[in-house]
Amino acid sequence: MENQILSDGHCPECLQKNIKSIFQENITNGYWECPTCNLQLQMLAPNHLGILDERGTGKLKPITYDKNRWGERVLIRRPQFEGDDCIIKNLNELNDYLATF
Ligand SMILES: [Zn+2]
Repeated sequence: MENQILSDGHCPECLQKNIKSIFQENITNGYWECPTCNLQLQMLAPNHLGILDERGTGKLKPITYDKNRWGERVLIRRPQFEGDDCIIKNLNELNDYLATF
Protein backbone atom coordinates (compact mmCIF):
# COMPACT_ATOMS: atom_id res chain seq x y z
CA MET A 1 0.00 0.00 0.00
CA GLU A 2 1.22 3.42 -0.88
CA ASN A 3 2.34 5.75 1.87
CA GLN A 4 0.13 8.70 2.57
CA ILE A 5 -0.63 11.35 5.19
CA LEU A 6 -4.10 11.61 6.68
CA SER A 7 -5.63 14.74 8.17
CA ASP A 8 -8.60 14.78 10.53
CA GLY A 9 -8.88 18.56 10.27
CA HIS A 10 -5.74 19.47 12.17
CA CYS A 11 -3.37 21.55 10.08
CA PRO A 12 -0.43 19.31 9.07
CA GLU A 13 1.97 22.23 9.03
CA CYS A 14 1.07 23.50 12.51
CA LEU A 15 1.02 19.98 13.99
CA GLN A 16 4.74 19.72 13.26
CA LYS A 17 5.21 22.81 15.46
CA ASN A 18 3.06 21.26 18.20
CA ILE A 19 0.24 23.69 17.47
CA LYS A 20 -3.20 22.09 17.26
CA SER A 21 -5.00 24.26 14.75
CA ILE A 22 -8.21 23.01 13.12
CA PHE A 23 -9.33 24.15 9.67
CA GLN A 24 -12.16 26.64 9.41
CA GLU A 25 -14.23 27.54 6.39
CA ASN A 26 -13.17 30.66 4.50
CA ILE A 27 -15.90 33.29 4.18
CA THR A 28 -15.46 34.00 0.49
CA ASN A 29 -14.17 30.94 -1.34
CA GLY A 30 -15.48 28.01 0.67
CA TYR A 31 -12.05 26.43 1.09
CA TRP A 32 -10.84 25.14 4.41
CA GLU A 33 -8.16 27.28 5.95
CA CYS A 34 -5.87 27.02 8.96
CA PRO A 35 -6.55 29.97 11.29
CA THR A 36 -2.91 29.95 12.41
CA CYS A 37 -0.82 29.67 9.21
CA ASN A 38 -3.56 30.23 6.57
CA LEU A 39 -2.85 27.01 4.70
CA GLN A 40 -5.79 26.43 2.33
CA LEU A 41 -7.34 23.10 1.45
CA GLN A 42 -10.06 21.97 -0.88
CA MET A 43 -12.34 19.02 -0.19
CA LEU A 44 -12.12 16.56 -3.07
CA ALA A 45 -13.68 13.23 -3.92
CA PRO A 46 -13.42 10.50 -2.91
CA ASN A 47 -11.62 11.18 0.38
CA HIS A 48 -8.95 13.75 -0.36
CA LEU A 49 -7.96 17.16 0.94
CA GLY A 50 -6.05 19.10 -1.70
CA ILE A 51 -3.53 21.60 -0.32
CA LEU A 52 -3.65 24.74 -2.43
CA ASP A 53 -0.39 26.41 -3.44
CA GLU A 54 -1.22 29.80 -1.95
CA ARG A 55 -2.20 31.03 1.51
CA GLY A 56 -5.65 32.27 2.40
CA THR A 57 -6.88 35.60 3.65
CA GLY A 58 -7.67 34.66 7.24
CA LYS A 59 -11.30 35.74 6.89
CA LEU A 60 -13.00 32.70 8.34
CA LYS A 61 -16.41 31.51 9.39
CA PRO A 62 -16.78 30.06 12.89
CA ILE A 63 -17.21 26.62 11.30
CA THR A 64 -14.51 24.10 12.04
CA TYR A 65 -13.73 20.88 10.17
CA ASP A 66 -15.82 18.10 11.68
CA LYS A 67 -13.93 14.81 11.51
CA ASN A 68 -17.07 12.87 12.45
CA ARG A 69 -18.71 14.19 9.32
CA TRP A 70 -15.86 14.34 6.82
CA GLY A 71 -13.45 11.84 8.31
CA GLU A 72 -9.73 11.53 7.97
CA ARG A 73 -8.70 12.47 4.47
CA VAL A 74 -5.65 11.83 2.33
CA LEU A 75 -3.56 14.94 1.70
CA ILE A 76 -2.74 15.69 -1.93
CA ARG A 77 -0.98 18.60 -3.61
CA ARG A 78 -0.78 20.73 -6.69
CA PRO A 79 -0.13 21.07 -9.55
CA GLN A 80 -2.86 18.56 -10.29
CA PHE A 81 -5.45 17.34 -7.89
CA GLU A 82 -5.71 14.02 -9.62
CA GLY A 83 -3.68 10.87 -9.97
CA ASP A 84 -1.56 8.99 -7.50
CA ASP A 85 1.40 11.31 -8.11
CA CYS A 86 -0.42 13.99 -6.15
CA ILE A 87 -0.67 11.99 -2.95
CA ILE A 88 1.79 13.35 -0.42
CA LYS A 89 3.72 10.30 0.72
CA ASN A 90 5.58 11.52 3.81
CA LEU A 91 6.46 14.57 5.88
CA ASN A 92 9.57 15.34 3.84
CA GLU A 93 7.49 15.56 0.70
CA LEU A 94 4.87 17.65 2.51
CA ASN A 95 7.47 20.10 3.80
CA ASP A 96 9.17 20.38 0.41
CA TYR A 97 5.80 21.34 -1.04
CA LEU A 98 4.97 23.78 1.78
CA ALA A 99 8.30 25.53 1.19
CA THR A 100 7.24 26.51 -2.34
CA PHE A 101 4.59 29.07 -1.35
ZN1 LIG B 1 -1.55 25.75 10.06
